[in-house]
Amino acid sequence: MKIFDEIESEVQSYARSFPRVFCRAKGELMWDQEGKQYLDFLAGAGTLNYGHNHPLFKQALLNYIQEDGITHGLDMHTRAKGEFLQTFNDKILKPRNMEYIVQFTGPTGTNAVEAAMKIARNVTGQQNIVSFTNGFHGVSLGSLAVTGNAHHRDAAGVCLSGTHRMPYDGYLGENIDTTEYLDKVLSDSSSGINSPAAVIVETVQGEGGINVARIDWLKRLQMVCKKHGLLLIVDDIQAGCGRTGDYFSFEEAGIDPDIVTLSKSLSGYGLPLAIVLMKPELDQWKPGEHNGTFRGNNLAFVTAKSAIDNYWSENHFAEETKRKGAYISERLDNIVNKYGEGNFTRKGRGMFQGIDCVSGQIAEKVTRHAFRQGLIIETSGADDHIVKLLCPLITSNQNLKKGIDIIETAIQETCVGEGHLPAEKIPA
Ligand SMILES: *Cc1c(COP(=O)(O)O)cnc(C)c1O
Repeated sequence: MKIFDEIESEVQSYARSFPRVFCRAKGELMWDQEGKQYLDFLAGAGTLNYGHNHPLFKQALLNYIQEDGITHGLDMHTRAKGEFLQTFNDKILKPRNMEYIVQFTGPTGTNAVEAAMKIARNVTGQQNIVSFTNGFHGVSLGSLAVTGNAHHRDAAGVCLSGTHRMPYDGYLGENIDTTEYLDKVLSDSSSGINSPAAVIVETVQGEGGINVARIDWLKRLQMVCKKHGLLLIVDDIQAGCGRTGDYFSFEEAGIDPDIVTLSKSLSGYGLPLAIVLMKPELDQWKPGEHNGTFRGNNLAFVTAKSAIDNYWSENHFAEETKRKGAYISERLDNIVNKYGEGNFTRKGRGMFQGIDCVSGQIAEKVTRHAFRQGLIIETSGADDHIVKLLCPLITSNQNLKKGIDIIETAIQETCVGEGHLPAEKIPA
């Protein structure tokens, strides 16, 4: 369609990787306007954990619209908001013994991150936030300051301040515990890092290249935060809502963050919704201090409630995700061993995984090849060198296999075809 070239800004990005006009989607499938079917392993960059247009959530939404339920009400109390809060408290927070206040921010992830950092700064009276190499937290100025990616940071146009960057787990090699370094600089009054307000961390770095923080590292990070009086913010916008198996990605570590941000798959339907969870004593906001016209997307409350009711009333969904995650691990390990020349590695946990292809060029060839075979899949990481699997958690076993088969063929043809493989490794 010519109109996209004519008046849509050059800022478009996914549209360049998948240059088709999409018309319809259901579950893990999408169709373009020529009627070609695609398997969606991008899933809104982790926004569609329950797939496209989930029939149960859609029905709840249609009923609500049919009844002329409130669509927009600023932050006024609405039935939809009340029911979402009740369900979130009863089925997510209480069974996990979590006591958090819920703040509705503007409906994007970055706005939740902005709010979380304001809370930490205002409550502690300190300015600086510790963030990690390869972290991604959004592209508004505050969030961008804690984001690592140069491509995004360079667009800021002003200096990005108020942060200290620390090496993430594994950044200096497997054998170096980077929390020791954090502990050391926080203990040294002349380190140049004086009393930050908080640490912001992803348990698995999505945009940064599916870097997984080890469970022990997360535990030690919390210990260091407690020791030095720093608040711990977990940005669970991409890793949360079941992506790694559990509802929150940090449950396995048994840590107890002071602040948590959620967005992407929170509404379950791809509708914009973001929240900040904070320990009750941190809720020192004055009315309207952090406002926004779209705080409280009532349509998103309806689908978010339906998602929790249908998937999180018991443990089954988390177990299924872990089972599928184990299948993905097994398949990717196999692919890496077969075609990786000892260079490729599998990364991630749960259904949040990827293949490090070392070079961005190879990863791009793989995803392009996959797209020609009907699989939508993207790259991530500093050089876009990670092929990132983010298929909906509800993807059927059959389509999960089909998608990974396409990836395997794409890698095989890319590596063998391009001569990346030594002859003896070329499969017969
Ligand atoms: C996507 C993402 C954000 C930003 O969310 P937007 O809705 O794009 O503003 C923040 N943090 C993490 C971890 C993300 O994956």
